[in-house]
Amino acid sequence: MNKRTFLKVCSAALTSRMISPLLASSDSKLKNWAGNLEYSTEKQYSATSLKNIQEFVRNRRSLKVLGTRHCFNNIADTTSEFLSMKATDQVVALDPSARTVTIESGMTYGQLCTYLDSRGWALHNLASLPHISVAGACSTATHGSGEKNGNLSTAVSAIEMVNAAGEVIKLSRSRDGNMFRSAVVGLGALGVITKVALEIQPRFMMKQYVYESLPLSELREQFDAIESSAYSVSLFTDWQEKRINEVWLKIRESDEPTFDAPAQFFGAKRATRNLHPIVALSAENCTEQMGVPGPWYERLPHFRMGFTPSAGKELQSEYFVSRQNAVDAILAVERVREKVGPHLLISEIRTIAADDLCMSPCYKQASVSIHFTWKQDWPAVQTLLPMIERELTPFHVRPHWGKLFTIPATELRARYERLPEFVETCRRYDPHGKFRNKFLNTYIFGNPTGSA
Ligand SMILES: Cc1cc2nc3c(=O)[nH]c(=O)nc-3n(C[C@H](O)[C@H](O)[C@H](O)COP(=O)(O)OP(=O)(O)OC[C@H]3O[C@@H](n4cnc5c(N)ncnc54)[C@H](O)[C@@H]3O)c2cc1C
Repeated sequence: MNKRTFLKVCSAALTSRMISPLLASSDSKLKNWAGNLEYSTEKQYSATSLKNIQEFVRNRRSLKVLGTRHCFNNIADTTSEFLSMKATDQVVALDPSARTVTIESGMTYGQLCTYLDSRGWALHNLASLPHISVAGACSTATHGSGEKNGNLSTAVSAIEMVNAAGEVIKLSRSRDGNMFRSAVVGLGALGVITKVALEIQPRFMMKQYVYESLPLSELREQFDAIESSAYSVSLFTDWQEKRINEVWLKIRESDEPTFDAPAQFFGAKRATRNLHPIVALSAENCTEQMGVPGPWYERLPHFRMGFTPSAGKELQSEYFVSRQNAVDAILAVERVREKVGPHLLISEIRTIAADDLCMSPCYKQASVSIHFTWKQDWPAVQTLLPMIERELTPFHVRPHWGKLFTIPATELRARYERLPEFVETCRRYDPHGKFRNKFLNTYIFGNPTGSA
């Protein structure tokens, strides 16, 4: 079907002006943010009211929901039709006594943070950049850093979604126990999340310090001390020369004991200017460092709100290992540094607290994540991933749901003890596989050809 015919069909099919087709511009296909994935259809709709979302879902045999398209793999892809949630981005309610904020699911963290901060509230943590949708991020267990900080989905206290039958389902942590814990990191498999309620806390101030060149020997001996030295710790490395290039420490001003920013930190030197994680790049787009106090949402991400990155020429992979295996896993990657180096932009090592969400890579496991930002050369990266995954096999790694990996489906499925329960939850809300795609059929249902 060409675009003109498609538009006609769309207009005829529209049950209301609230559902509108969105077309990729004529010279470019619909792609993910990084541009490494061309989605398998250009048919994209936008719906704004709950009633229209219900109608849209009822009238489709197959669809996928799109957030801000920041996943690097095909978890969001479909050959049928997309429902974009971008236009649903309003705050629904702020409840200071319950300490929750309820938002529409297309809202980004960037939008939410300024709203919350201006009213005296904050979230517990943020990812490296604020441009991602809250529902899309929570659906893939997106995380920041900090050994006491769970991933972003641990802040979810309730969700509203439209299931495959077009019914409105409400699940909350306090009322729905296991079902809620199974649904929160839902991988887009259960329905259209329309609203998300998040736990909030009073706004807080932070400072950020960066240290350069931490010897790998210090990391090996002092990993726990390093990781517990700040509210959020990120280690950036190119794996060369037996050192961590940069240590980013994000400190809550109220934290005790106070971090007094010594000139030396486990053998690393305090930076004398703001730095980008890749030292050769300008720090203009990075959040303020050098101990300058600022609000939580301007220190927790590495990149500034006001800076909207264009499509990034990069690929990303990330692997979670249990905290107790962190040092061995880091050293295992370091052993293959010569192969990794030429294709890498930068790696980041972060800590994440254990949680109780069935499909979270940190389920019942305090974790360390080893992240790779690659140059955008998939043929090369595709050959490196199996090698890294082999090195990490003894540690039963779980990959990030939204990034690139090559771990075989059978192995991956075996690493999620609550997978059978999640599959049951999927069948309950989507018995005929309306929200399934190749990714879900392969990694969740173990049936790449995809019959429900
Ligand atoms: C530059 C960059 C930096 C990143 N930094 C981090 C980081 O610091 N930490 C980290 O953990 N990850 C990070 N990521 C990964 C990113 O957070 C995840 O891929 C996240 O899922 C992106 O959210 P999205 O809305 O763009 O999702 P999309 O790619 O749009 O969708 C992801 C999944 O969520 C589902 N989904 C989206 N919205 C809904 C909805 N309303 N209802 C039901 N299902 C829905 C989709 O169907 C799909 O299955 C980064 C990615 C990029 C590109």
